[in-house]
Amino acid sequence: AVARAQAAIARHTRLVDDFPSAGIAFKDLTPVLADAEGLSAIVTALTHGCGAIDLVAGIDARGFLLGGAVARELEVGVLAVRKGGKLPPPVHAVSYSLEYGSATLEIPANGLDLSGQRVLLVDDVLATGGTAVAAAGLLSRAGASVTGVAVIMELVGLGGRDTIARGLGPEVPVHS
Ligand code: AMP
Repeated sequence: AVARAQAAIARHTRLVDDFPSAGIAFKDLTPVLADAEGLSAIVTALTHGCGAIDLVAGIDARGFLLGGAVARELEVGVLAVRKGGKLPPPVHAVSYSLEYGSATLEIPANGLDLSGQRVLLVDDVLATGGTAVAAAGLLSRAGASVTGVAVIMELVGLGGRDTIARGLGPEVPVHS
């Protein structure tokens, strides 16, 4: 599955320079997820060896697409970690800085019992790791713990893996 996923990523990723701001080499994985072979191989690759988990959390927005598919494969539920302002109150919210600009993430504060849940965090791209650490902070406020991070692509030069190790602990596996 890993080789098939890598082939689909190499073939279908759209590279966009200077988006969303100057100097950012944006990796648009939308066409990879739209490809039947790409989605299938990636979901299989990401679900292998992720350990025992109770819930998948997908990060806005391509993490939603991937998260739902990964959750179905693992036969657990899925939670959308939303960008700020989309959810009805009450919410848990966190603001943090990105490779470009800053952002807010939110999850519902009512109606979910996340206590003790082991969560696999799923997103398309790992850049600085700020989003993953912020999302993990939100989930821990709700009583859950992120026990793994799975992404399609890791931008190795930005140190996301080290940031996650510092923020979540070196024992939390990061799978890209
Ligand atoms: P970070 O918090 O820096 O790890 O950024 C991760 C989040 O921002 C993910 O949700 C990505 O979709 C997005 N992102 C950051 N940098 C890029 C990039 N160069 N190409 C595509 N997506 C990116």
